[in-house]
Amino acid sequence: MVRDTASNQLNEFKKTQKECDRLTTGHGCPLADKLNSLTVGPRGPILLQDIQLLDEMAHFDRERIPERVVHAKGAGAFGYFEVTHDITKYTKAKIFSEIGKRTPCAVRFSTVGGESGSADTARDPRGFAVKLYTEDGNWDLVGNNTPIFFIRDPILFPSFIHTQKRNPATHLKDADMFWDFITLRPETTHQVSFLFSDRGTPDGYRHMNGYGSHTFKLVNEKGEAVYCKFHYKTDQGIKNLSAKRADELSGSDPDYAIRDLYNAILTGNYPSYTMYIQVMTYKEAEKWEFNPFDLTKVWPHAEFPLIPVGRMTLDRNPSNYFAEVEQLAFSPANMVPGIEPSPDKMLQGRLFSYNDTHRHRLGANYHQIPVNCPYRARVRNYQRDGPMTIDDNQKGAPNYFPNSFSGPVDCRNYGECKFNVSGDVNRYSSADEDNFTQVGIFFRKVLNEEERQNLVENIANHIVNAQDFLQERAIHNFSQACPEYGAGIREALARVKKNQASSQTSTITAAVASSAKL
Ligand code: NDP
Repeated sequence: MVRDTASNQLNEFKKTQKECDRLTTGHGCPLADKLNSLTVGPRGPILLQDIQLLDEMAHFDRERIPERVVHAKGAGAFGYFEVTHDITKYTKAKIFSEIGKRTPCAVRFSTVGGESGSADTARDPRGFAVKLYTEDGNWDLVGNNTPIFFIRDPILFPSFIHTQKRNPATHLKDADMFWDFITLRPETTHQVSFLFSDRGTPDGYRHMNGYGSHTFKLVNEKGEAVYCKFHYKTDQGIKNLSAKRADELSGSDPDYAIRDLYNAILTGNYPSYTMYIQVMTYKEAEKWEFNPFDLTKVWPHAEFPLIPVGRMTLDRNPSNYFAEVEQLAFSPANMVPGIEPSPDKMLQGRLFSYNDTHRHRLGANYHQIPVNCPYRARVRNYQRDGPMTIDDNQKGAPNYFPNSFSGPVDCRNYGECKFNVSGDVNRYSSADEDNFTQVGIFFRKVLNEEERQNLVENIANHIVNAQDFLQERAIHNFSQACPEYGAGIREALARVKKNQASSQTSTITAAVASSAKL
């Protein structure tokens, strides 16, 4: 049997060992016998003084940390980002300061809805999170393989995610929950169309694009700002799995995407992604037909062309998955001078939520974990203590500010760029902010005939499991984007129902025939 390189990892480890290390307890005490508990006589009982056994069991009991609520299943890799084009007229971010400059990075790709043991070929958006270890601290671009998202107001996020997870009573995935929410909030139509298109099942993580998705602000040395979108385009080319192949792999190799990335890097086939930005001035933002901060919309390339910036190359696998991937913590709030948030409501919600989650999952000092540590910048502040303080806790430096004893001082030229907001405070409904124009363009102009057919069939195969009134509401929404889109789903749904009915009839006929034989 042919073994892939990932399957041979233990052999590779063995080659690195001249001789076996000495076995110890967690506190370093050498052990004489790892195979037998300390008992009174050969049949027990076990003594409470078997510290070796207690140490082993107590640590085992604490092995798991909470799974990520979303993006639980993922793969990580390391590498570098290299600047190929000058964008210093837009941003003073040091990472972009000169052509040829390299910055180390960590990346985590993931599915969204499934648990950590779920199949990574499932139809789902893919997370595309990049941590760049810059000399001004870590910059995290925490995006997806889609330039848009299902919703535009973060207050809907917990409900939206609940509908992608399990029914609270049955603990099963529930098509009614999914299609009920989706059809009641038609701003989801654009992203749902991406999800059920061929790109909803990418062939591993090397053959998909990544997008910062949100609108950000770039600020240059003079303090001038523009709005910006970030795109990473795969240099391997887009490649997707057919719905049938993705389903097969879910059973035969549920870790397909992790394996593909690990093997590619181990064999020197390093994946890379070219970064582009789109730029919109404040004036253009005021005049643009759509809200430029609406995460359910793209900025069309013809109006806001892609500007090349650099290339990210992944050339190292994690040396330990838990330490370097399970504990790898990204946050959209981790920005650096020259990159700032825009009023994008979804981004504003995420600025809070990610670091909050990490404090819950990993603890208040999660940024001291080596993979999260901004090691190319010196952390100097007035935060102290907390669980798992593993660095020097800033030794004897003053822990209050201001002080007269040479504690760290603020650097005024690193401040946010000034901006002006005004308006009446209210809870503004954004439900009807043109949910369909860009979906129509996507269906009619971006997809070819075969891709359109796959899209409507993929939707039909899923929505057939939801109740009739939800199917009707969905068809109504898709029709508003493009009448042929709705009609295509209706036809495909009729075919799926007919096939189901005829396969039920043949099952019943076969059962009757076999019972007649008895
Ligand atoms: P363009 O023709 O300039 O770009 C079309 C974009 O669609 C390309 O970025 C292409 O990505 C991407 N694309 C192709 N097939 C799919 C698919 N199955 N799922 C998702 N994306 C796909 O058009 P516009 O910029 O004017 O946008 C037109 C429509 O294209 C939008 O309404 C939106 O639905 C979609 N789109 C736009 C993007 C943008 O940032 N402007 C990005 C992605 C989609 P690639 O070049 O990598 O093949």
